[in-house]
Amino acid sequence: RRGVRGNFVPPIRSNSTNSGNVTSRIAGKSDDGLDDSTKRCLEMLCGPDGELPEKLRNLEPRLIEHVSNEIMDRDPNVHWDDIAGLEHAKKCVTEMVIWPLLRPDIFKGCRAPGRGLLLFGPPGTGKTMIGKAIAGEAKATFFYISASSLTSKWIGEGEKLVRALFGVASCRQPAVIFVDEIDSLLSQRKSEGEHESSRRLKTQFLIEMEGFDSGSEQILLIGATNRPQELDEAARRRLTKRLYIPLPSSEARAWIVRNLLEKDGLFKLSEDDINAICKLTLGYSGSDMKNLVKDASMGPLREALRQGIEITKLKKEDMRAVMLQDFETAMQEVRPSVSSNELGIYEEWNKQFGSLA
Ligand code: ADP
Repeated sequence: RRGVRGNFVPPIRSNSTNSGNVTSRIAGKSDDGLDDSTKRCLEMLCGPDGELPEKLRNLEPRLIEHVSNEIMDRDPNVHWDDIAGLEHAKKCVTEMVIWPLLRPDIFKGCRAPGRGLLLFGPPGTGKTMIGKAIAGEAKATFFYISASSLTSKWIGEGEKLVRALFGVASCRQPAVIFVDEIDSLLSQRKSEGEHESSRRLKTQFLIEMEGFDSGSEQILLIGATNRPQELDEAARRRLTKRLYIPLPSSEARAWIVRNLLEKDGLFKLSEDDINAICKLTLGYSGSDMKNLVKDASMGPLREALRQGIEITKLKKEDMRAVMLQDFETAMQEVRPSVSSNELGIYEEWNKQFGSLA
């Protein structure tokens, strides 16, 4: 028998439950030294014929396993309704990404979507949530990787891990690959300081992107960054749609407060209280708001303990409702994490390179 590239492929039994044979499907290597979990993971990626897909055959099993167990998220469990505000981003993403993933037969030719999306803006504004919601809404497999871990944790191996990531994604289509802090991978800072290994990693990444961009694969790459100004031209070219994810509006901040407290049955604030909280939290990100609610919800508990009730004897009824004053106290601890200077940089970049429509 001949493999796709003309190599001799030793005859194997097409029995996908026969884990003893699985690595013989990876370029005829022996499976000595592989533990059962690695074998099981490879078995799950085998096609109906019991063969490991071509793309995975020359990859290291432990990297394939790492992608399958640590990077692939089978159930991201985030929905549009969980994300406050960002109506513009949701609308663009639905049209550009979700519909094409759901109906590839319609979105071809002139309607073929771009395969790269950039979400940029301050930290903690919901970029990762959007990535997860896309995967959920489009019934796609979600892969999450932080680019800085590729350059720091996987020194010298990042390139191989990138190949494994795109290889496994192509076996799990439709797939969404979310690359957080993509600037640390595709930065324009070239110099004496740039190591040979990070240059190779970047090249490998661009090659993989090019590969699925030209093909019929249903893989979408989403890059997220708080530093869009550091992306180089090659990165901008491949991330064709670039959406600004700004700080939450006043309504979105109110929604986050209400939603988080309601989930725990703690919402007792009046409209006036909510309006006051919104005024006081101008400049807070979604994640700052979450931290603020957490801190404020500790207020009634701290007060009960101050009054001498022991924590082990404390009953829920002993605690008063969360009040505006708890938010005012919490605001002394939880400050906005984004400065107005930084916001200016995002807005400028959005004007120059963002997809405004
Ligand atoms: P980013 O990827 O932009 O840094 P995340 O999506 O990881 O931010 O958000 C961090 C946390 O902040 C989320 O888990 C969520 O609790 C909260 N959050 C941020 N933005 C929003 C939003 N628009 N709606 C609801 N929660 C939000």
